[in-house]
Amino acid sequence: MFFYDVAVVGAGPAGMMAAICAGQQKKSVGLFEKGNAPGRKILLSGKGRCNVTNIVSLHVFLTKFGKQGEFLRTAFKKFFNQDLIDFFEAKGLALKIERQGRVFPVTDKAVSILEVLKRYLVESNVKVLYNRRVVTIEKKDRYFKLCVENGEQIEAGKVILACGGESFRFTGSSGDGFAIAKSLGHTIVPLSPGLVPLKTREAWVKELKGLTLKNICFTFKTENKKIVSDIGELLFTHFGISGPLVLDLSSAILALLENDKKALLYIDLKPGLTDIQLDERLLREFRLSGSKNISNVLKDMLPLRLIPVFLNLLNFDTRKKGNQISRQERHLMIHLLKAFPLEIIGALPMEEAMVTCGGISTKEINPQTMESRIVAGLYFAGEIIDASASSGGYNLQQAFSTGYLAGEAAAISV
Ligand SMILES: Cc1cc2nc3c(=O)[nH]c(=O)nc-3n(C[C@H](O)[C@H](O)[C@H](O)COP(=O)(O)OP(=O)(O)OC[C@H]3O[C@@H](n4cnc5c(N)ncnc54)[C@H](O)[C@@H]3O)c2cc1C
Repeated sequence: MFFYDVAVVGAGPAGMMAAICAGQQKKSVGLFEKGNAPGRKILLSGKGRCNVTNIVSLHVFLTKFGKQGEFLRTAFKKFFNQDLIDFFEAKGLALKIERQGRVFPVTDKAVSILEVLKRYLVESNVKVLYNRRVVTIEKKDRYFKLCVENGEQIEAGKVILACGGESFRFTGSSGDGFAIAKSLGHTIVPLSPGLVPLKTREAWVKELKGLTLKNICFTFKTENKKIVSDIGELLFTHFGISGPLVLDLSSAILALLENDKKALLYIDLKPGLTDIQLDERLLREFRLSGSKNISNVLKDMLPLRLIPVFLNLLNFDTRKKGNQISRQERHLMIHLLKAFPLEIIGALPMEEAMVTCGGISTKEINPQTMESRIVAGLYFAGEIIDASASSGGYNLQQAFSTGYLAGEAAAISV
């Protein structure tokens, strides 16, 4: 039977960082991964470019995690965004900052991030064991016994669970960690999809698939409540809508949807203009090109593909000339430009969510070390913990920071 000072379960960003930190403390470390390669979610992240962190301040970072922000303070203080940037740059991988403080490798390739992590694993003498799905973990008096699906049994002084969440299951994160933690006495805060595209009642969205609306904002309204977005981008898909604005507010929208049946989302296509300014703009357009078809007149104001849908919703004949539009029709146009409606009927399933909300209750984890408050010697890192954020590099930083803290704390206490 093999014995490791520290056994880490799951070779995602959290598990790799935990294993590297434990290895650097000169402990024997086994990193158990159920798949045949590490970091498969890293390769998908940031559309294959990996938005690895964000340069906003600690204060802003914590607010991105809502109620769980405070729990992460020590982990971020120990190993934060600049530390992560230095970690990659120390191995020759330069990073760059893009809009909204998002950090990416200059190569624009997620695989560059993974390559650096693999180099650190080698240097830290971590034994990485692929095709090893850990199925059970038992706590004995002074050690843990881990059983692998292939029948192998391993003993370890400390265990770090970093099995990820439950979405994009083909990457390996299929919820195993929750079952293992539960068997050891932990509470799992109910799981729900986070950062997930929304489905609309309107079937015509299919025709707009791939169209991005830039500089828009939206208001989501149910009978009793509303959510107003920032200004940003919205993407039409074959089933509904996606894009950063939608993904970031998806959990809040889904929570409201549970209680109210009717839920409409109104897109403000011209958030920078008031109704009066829009009226002036339309009048100017009609004066300049009143003899053109209305669809031609709108070309300067709306994306080309949106125009037929827009006119259809207004019930306008597309051959109508600009100078034939009545005052009342102009006001209908303004209303639609400011509140383009879509009925939201739900979200894509958990499988399609970028993060899993819920997970191991933070009440049962010591924030100073990431050690379980229920089972001494058991640690958690990454998305398995009930602490997820909006998009922007925050979730990967969480995985790296909690992994760092857990790896170091576990190794030091062996
Ligand atoms: C499409 C997509 C894009 C994303 N883009 C970004 C982005 O740009 N920026 C950002 O900050 N976040 C992004 N995220 C979120 C980010 O990828 C995750 O938050 C992060 O990967 C979580 O890291 P983790 O190590 O906790 O879990 P994971 O990355 O899910 O890794 C868990 C690992 O554990 C292994 N495992 C599971 N069970 C077992 C078991 N029983 N035995 C052994 N091994 C096991 C899995 O095979 C997997 O390798 C994205 C997510 C998705 C799905």
